[in-house]
Amino acid sequence: MYNEAMHAMGVEPSVIRELFAYGAKRKAEIGEDRVFDFSIGNPSVPAPVSVGRALEELAKLPPAQVHAYTQSAGDPTVRTAIAENLNARFGTDYTAANLYLTCGAAASLSISLKAVLEGSEEVAVVAPFFPEYRTWIDSHGGVLVSVHARESDFQIDLDAMDAAIGPRTKAVIINSPNNPVGTVYSRENLEGLARILERKQAEYGTAIFLISDEPYRELVYDGLEVPWVPDIYGNTIVCYSWSKSLSLPGERVGYILVPQSVADWENVYFAIAGAGRALGFVCAPAVFQQVIARCVNEPADIAAYERNRELLTSMLDDLGYDYIAPQGAFYLWMRSLEPDAKAFSDRAKAHELLLVASDSFGVEGWARLGYCISPETIMNSRDAFAALKAEY
Ligand code: PLP
Repeated sequence: MYNEAMHAMGVEPSVIRELFAYGAKRKAEIGEDRVFDFSIGNPSVPAPVSVGRALEELAKLPPAQVHAYTQSAGDPTVRTAIAENLNARFGTDYTAANLYLTCGAAASLSISLKAVLEGSEEVAVVAPFFPEYRTWIDSHGGVLVSVHARESDFQIDLDAMDAAIGPRTKAVIINSPNNPVGTVYSRENLEGLARILERKQAEYGTAIFLISDEPYRELVYDGLEVPWVPDIYGNTIVCYSWSKSLSLPGERVGYILVPQSVADWENVYFAIAGAGRALGFVCAPAVFQQVIARCVNEPADIAAYERNRELLTSMLDDLGYDYIAPQGAFYLWMRSLEPDAKAFSDRAKAHELLLVASDSFGVEGWARLGYCISPETIMNSRDAFAALKAEY
């Protein structure tokens, strides 16, 4: 009657969404300010005023012009504006021909995986990883190979990656700044990965794509460098969205970049266009393409996240929690107070603290705290965190 695999995916709730829905219900029951919801990555910073201005401007144009289909890959003038922004920042020479506009990073990843995977090829991901990677890899016939991050600092474990990559590896997905850990991969770490991938490509005579999932690229603290990955490894496909940097997650707009450094890049780009077509991801939302053309040079506003990071880390330090110091994005990776992270998350729930257990990110014993929330929620959660700690 229907596709069993798709049905199973529809029935099985995402742990994050489930917790978020529970939080909404609980807030209605006991009051918004009594639930400490660290569950989801919905930006708390409003979109810049220039987005509102662009929308007002667009509302005055002839509707037939504003709402019309664009090219499947996106309006060429919009793609040119994005290419120019990247060229100014990274000293590159991209044009509209390198860019395919999408409905957010989710579509960028799904399209890129469908474009490169043939048969049951392997995709290595760094664990803990964004749970939807499994959904997209599985549904495009690939096999997820989970490679645990380095224990000490959650950078890529190069020895483990070396051991995991074989003749069937088609792609490696990295995400920096990282969800769920908040780490930013150093240049040295990425150069080490590039050396492994180049050696493996030569050894097996295959192409191994590095898919760089970057929706948090601009959300980085203390002036830390987020290296431009295609400069380090040529066969890199960049997946991006403005969901986090411009706080536009509901508008579904992002891109795939296939740089000239990708081997046979024009044909890889055609495969991206074909996969976009096959998945029905053609012509990203037209109004927001135009908004992006007007706001692409707008800086991300990280001040609020920076302040929240400070509030949260000093509170957790005071209370004696163990965590990985976040370098970017708006997540903190905290060690669970018992080996079973799900049980820990359930105990936290009893204190109205909503923390995502690490199991859904492919590892055990940790919890993710999203701090893209109001500073008051963080400050008011202190007693709950203290009570939770006291239980152990
Ligand atoms: N990749 C990572 C690591 C994410 O955290 C997210 C969203 O939270 C996505 C991809 C999907 O982004 P988008 O909302 O732009 O589709």
